[in-house]
Amino acid sequence: MIDDMLRTPGAVRDAERWTAHNYHPLPVVISSAEGAWLTDVDGKRYLDCLAGYSALNFGHRHPQLVAAAHAQLDRLTLTSRAFIHDQFAGFCRELAELCGKDLVLPMNTGAEAVETGIKVARKWGYQVKGVPAGQANIVVAEGNFHGRTTTIVSFSTDEDARADFGPYTPGFTVVPYGDLDALAAAIDENTVAVLLEPIQGEQGVVIPPEGYLPGVRQVCTERNVLFIADEIQSGLGRTGRTFACDHESVVPDMYLLGKALGGGIVPVSAVAANTDVLGVLQPGQHGSTFGGNPLACAVATEVVRLLATGEFQRRSAELGERLRAGLEGLLGKGLVGVRVRGLWAGLDIDPALMSGREACERLMARGILAKDTHGSTIRLAPPLVITEAEIDRALTTLAEVLTA
Ligand SMILES: *Cc1c(COP(=O)(O)O)cnc(C)c1O
Repeated sequence: MIDDMLRTPGAVRDAERWTAHNYHPLPVVISSAEGAWLTDVDGKRYLDCLAGYSALNFGHRHPQLVAAAHAQLDRLTLTSRAFIHDQFAGFCRELAELCGKDLVLPMNTGAEAVETGIKVARKWGYQVKGVPAGQANIVVAEGNFHGRTTTIVSFSTDEDARADFGPYTPGFTVVPYGDLDALAAAIDENTVAVLLEPIQGEQGVVIPPEGYLPGVRQVCTERNVLFIADEIQSGLGRTGRTFACDHESVVPDMYLLGKALGGGIVPVSAVAANTDVLGVLQPGQHGSTFGGNPLACAVATEVVRLLATGEFQRRSAELGERLRAGLEGLLGKGLVGVRVRGLWAGLDIDPALMSGREACERLMARGILAKDTHGSTIRLAPPLVITEAEIDRALTTLAEVLTA
């Protein structure tokens, strides 16, 4: 086909013309998808190895999730929290049970779940721990990614994400990720929470040293500080367990969830914690017009039911070992670093060969969509419905790209 018969170039130009340039997307224009596969406006098919940054853990248009959405669209879509609807309690109960917590507070985006966690931790600090008014602080990690609000970027260490968005929200202390002594030293009598990703996704799937998360748990318990685990990207089956914290049998005081919770259909996020923590909120103190809406609850309830079977966690763990073996075989053959947990991998490409962006463009040309994070690092996070043969195909294509 000659280029001007393709719809992609014009569609890419239009997308650039009519939006703020807050993203640098690959020049591909998707029009439909199913399972692990995407189809562009020219009919070319791609294997999805990003899965909407883990928002699509169950693949595109999972039949059970689409059916729940259709059924709910025909009944009731929105009430606001001023009234109770019939999908609300069931969702909150089933998610609370999945998390092993007493209570759930539903929101929409991940950033809202993080903001909710911060607000709840501060209120808990003043009302339960007895921190003097206005003095609460929260310990966070270098290299974190928790979202894009003004408060959240205030404690980002990524200058692109942070610069020129001040004045910044005070009350956060940044420590190196994976260094337990530094974290313990940063906690003082006014610390209300430690907020961490159990694996840093945006940073390139950075897995902390073994023993770090249990150590954080212990320090938080000893010092009367809440451990808030941001499992928005790492949770809900991605790593081969329901939560990334499960790998080290760590139970945080608060789970922050999002992304896959909406089944790739609607934005759904939530905070799960026990009554002694989430119970500090009273009417009028926090909320969201769309949080916990009937459509969101109907879809997310089915997501929780898919996870309750354990099938996706199992797939992720088993297929993740295949992915790990394949990627480790490429060490020294274009890759200089590989980190894998479940179907989630960070790959460091030899920077002398190409940037992460170049690698992703070359993968795209060969029908694989993935995304670079920083420099020469790319992240693979395929939908958990991907098959062995499709993983092998992604690995073969990656090997071609690295040696071409
Ligand atoms: C994506 C993400 C967020 C923010 O979620 P949004 O829905 O984009 O607001 C927060 N924390 C982590 C770990 C994430 O990966």
